[in-house]
Amino acid sequence: MRRTARIGLAVALVAVLAALLAVRLLESGSPPADIRLDEFTDRISAGQVESAAVDAGAGVVTGRIRTDTGGYGYTVQIAPDYADEITDKLLAAPNQVQVTAVTSGPGLADIVLATLPYVLLAAIVVWVVLRSSGGTRLLARMRRRRVSSDRPDVTFRDVAGLDEAVRELREITDFLGDPAKYAEIGARIPRGVLLYGPPGSGKTLLARAVAGEAGVPFYSLSGAAFVEMFAGVGAARVRDLFKQAKAAGAAIVFIDEIDAVGRVRTATSGGSGDEREQTLNQLLVEMDGFFRASAIVVMAATNRPDILDPALLRPGRFDRHVAVDLPDVNGRRRILELHAKKVPVTAAVDLDLVARRTAGFSGADLANVVNEAALLAAREGHKLVRPDDLSEATERVLAGPERSRVLSDTERLVTAVHEAGHAVCGHALPGAHRVDKVSIVGRGSALGFTTVLPHDDRTLLTRTEYLDELTVLLGGRAAEEVVLGEPTNGASDDLARATRKAREMVCELGMSAKLGPRTFTGDDADPAVAVSAELAAEIDREIGATVAEAHAAAKAIVTDRRDILDAVVTRLLEVEALEGEDLESLLGSRSELGLLGRSDLWPAAHEGRT
Ligand code: ADP
Ligand code: MG
Ligand code: ZN
Repeated sequence: MRRTARIGLAVALVAVLAALLAVRLLESGSPPADIRLDEFTDRISAGQVESAAVDAGAGVVTGRIRTDTGGYGYTVQIAPDYADEITDKLLAAPNQVQVTAVTSGPGLADIVLATLPYVLLAAIVVWVVLRSSGGTRLLARMRRRRVSSDRPDVTFRDVAGLDEAVRELREITDFLGDPAKYAEIGARIPRGVLLYGPPGSGKTLLARAVAGEAGVPFYSLSGAAFVEMFAGVGAARVRDLFKQAKAAGAAIVFIDEIDAVGRVRTATSGGSGDEREQTLNQLLVEMDGFFRASAIVVMAATNRPDILDPALLRPGRFDRHVAVDLPDVNGRRRILELHAKKVPVTAAVDLDLVARRTAGFSGADLANVVNEAALLAAREGHKLVRPDDLSEATERVLAGPERSRVLSDTERLVTAVHEAGHAVCGHALPGAHRVDKVSIVGRGSALGFTTVLPHDDRTLLTRTEYLDELTVLLGGRAAEEVVLGEPTNGASDDLARATRKAREMVCELGMSAKLGPRTFTGDDADPAVAVSAELAAEIDREIGATVAEAHAAAKAIVTDRRDILDAVVTRLLEVEALEGEDLESLLGSRSELGLLGRSDLWPAAHEGRT
């Protein structure tokens, strides 16, 4: 009852003020003009205007006019757009009148009167909203989401099994430790680092370790928090965050779940789209506005790098990408060892065995396993964690709700065969990139992956080299066919990429003997030609033939090197990831292998095919 009364009072107040404003507007017409504009211009031309103060905003000129018979003050009304012209006229007058420009903004009373109703109205709305229980919750939430900063005491020693990521991040800690060294030499330091990997793989841990290692403050914000906020709050928060970080001198700004704000802008993004976009824009503005001298590094984490707005990934923004993968068996053992240091275990505990049984577990899962085991031991009154506790804890975590995907034995075998196929083909072909790492620990939606290192900075690629890369792309699929007898659906991404590459070869690079050295897409494409049905069919056939050629080559390699392939598969099933010397020794030294370049078949192979 009291509330309604107060609202009523406020509404009445607003009504009174509005009426006041209306009256004011009505009477505040233009001040009466002393003289007419045409008379004024005549006086100017006659050189009789002595002084002039032009108020363009109000559209008024005031001053003095002197005639033979004496002088008098004047006020003349002009159109605001006309002010410049009048000024020019005055300056060009025979007596070159001194013109002063004045700006008489609205008086204080006008401003107060004009804005008061809005201020009051806003106050009422805010008051009503905050009185409600939802408002109280909202206030509480906004308070909780304050930008938090701390100086983490974790370092890279608290991170296990992410050697590659740590290696890449050492450069950042080195920079934060001595920014001047880098500034002197004019080095461009990566200012935005994107950590990507599945949940629980240690992204937050890594970001904190970078700050801890460098001894700088750590400011963190979650992308998801922005999206739930009022319009404009997200952007303001970003501004605050950077202001604080800049004041600190050197700092890590960490934006968790950046995909929540940095998703590709789409038309269908709905109501929160505007807010997200504002926040995102503010983030980009802040990142673009860094001074060379400031030592702020922005780190962001996501498990969906594929959906990020490309604007975020441009040079000068998040241009350094660090993969934070799930650990392989060796990494898992080291993570377990790290966490087991905090709980006492019996001598019988074999962490190696636990590591082998926890394929697909993330670092967070493993930390959880150790913790659960300690809880189980404590519940039963034991002082030390026994192997049984760890087994049971593993089962529990496995059954838990937030488990990452664990591959069945069959899936592991198929994945190993597939990846080994890529590796063996890549290693056998001189035109392909060097195989860097093979893994059956998933990355993104892929169950396994094979990464390659370009062996030099090739910019000119022969058809053989293109074909070799195409063959490597199809190597996984070929291995499935040769070893398992039929393909699985696991190679769909490879197939899509292979098809794109073959299309590029045929349509853009003139690498089809049949169609000749011409293009069928891109700027030079002749749409009239490109749509001809026969030609389209011919293009299709050539793309198909190119893919088929690479596929046949891949199958031949896999069949030929079956023993090597089997060895890689066996080892992969044991250790899950292979790289460096381990991988080389299985694949054999590259130079000893016979060349499988097929340039001698070009263009004969094509002409022979119909
Ligand atoms: P993310 O941010 O990738 O989801 P977190 O960094 O939050 O993962 O990991 C949660 C917890 O799991 C960490 O605090 C740590 O205890 C443990 N953890 C995850 N990865 C590792 C790792 N590589 N080494 C040691 N502990 C890890
Ligand atoms: Mg995290
Ligand atoms: Zn593949």
